[in-house]
Amino acid sequence: MKQKLINFFSGRNGIDTIGKTVLWTAIALVLISWITSGLLGGIISNVLWVLALALIVYGYWRMFSRNIYKRRAENDRFLASTSGIRSFFRGIKLRITQGRKFKFFKCPSCGTVLRVPRGKGRIQITCKRCGNRFSGKT
Ligand SMILES: [Zn+2]
Repeated sequence: MKQKLINFFSGRNGIDTIGKTVLWTAIALVLISWITSGLLGGIISNVLWVLALALIVYGYWRMFSRNIYKRRAENDRFLASTSGIRSFFRGIKLRITQGRKFKFFKCPSCGTVLRVPRGKGRIQITCKRCGNRFSGKT
């Protein structure tokens, strides 16, 4: 039985960034579907529910797909096209998890977010990416 499972999963795409995004979106849609179940006789809720189901089916289909090469190319395209949004959310996550110890500055010349320890007073910050120097209060 265990060997059968291993055979089944080997050579399949598994869960990648698209997979995670699709499944989390589906969960969010299910939640919104519950919230909106009383609106317009439940039409919105039903549509969202169907969408969520379609996303789950799509997510599982990608997970079990044997065409790993093609799925990986899709995932790379997805990563490239959503890099702005993802770095925005990563920034929020960093501020939440490390905001007490570190302060975050955005480089005025290239926009890279830089992390510096708090409580050092006014300091010169050198951008890791472009070398631009600017001052900031920690
Ligand atoms: Zn910079």
